Formats: sequence, structure tokens, C-alpha cells
Amino acid sequence: MGTVYRNISLFKEQGIVKYVATVDGEERIDGRTDPHAHFVCNRCGRIYDVEDNEPTAAETALIGDGFNVESKSVTYYGVCDKCK
Ligand SMILES: [Zn+2]
Ligand SMILES: [Zn+2]
Repeated sequence: MGTVYRNISLFKEQGIVKYVATVDGEERIDGRTDPHAHFVCNRCGRIYDVEDNEPTAAETALIGDGFNVESKSVTYYGVCDKCK
């Protein structure tokens, strides 16, 4: 178990996987590195990928003010369709 977590932090350092969220005290990571949002179900703890390709109003405003957005992390929490 210790080895697994060490490997995960190594992957994170190399940018291969991304930290997504902590569910029930357990760190969840993602092998998908292209920009997308996540939905975490508060009941089953499953994490869903959410397509998030359009710049948000906040990003548009930041870019308009001359800021350079390099990354973002969007996580929605709720109840998934299987747990409703
Ligand atoms: Zn669920
Ligand atoms: Zn993902």
C-alpha cells in the first residue's frame, strides 16, 4: 500500500496523473490529463468525468484582465443518476 501511494505521488510529480478529489478520506487521481471537470457522488463516491471545454465567464474575465490561466480544477459534488 505504501508503495502504491509513493508511485502515485511520483506520477503526480511527473504530471501523468492529476489529483481530483478526496472521497471518504481517500485521495482520488485521474490518468486523463486534458482539461475537464469532475462530478463526485456524495453517496457512492464514484467520480465522473465532465466535459468542460468552453471557457467560463471567470476565465474570460481573467484573460480579459491580462491574466494567464495555466490550469484549473473544477469539481462538482452531488448525487449521481444511479443513486437518486
Ligand atoms: Zn452515486
Ligand atoms: Zn477525469
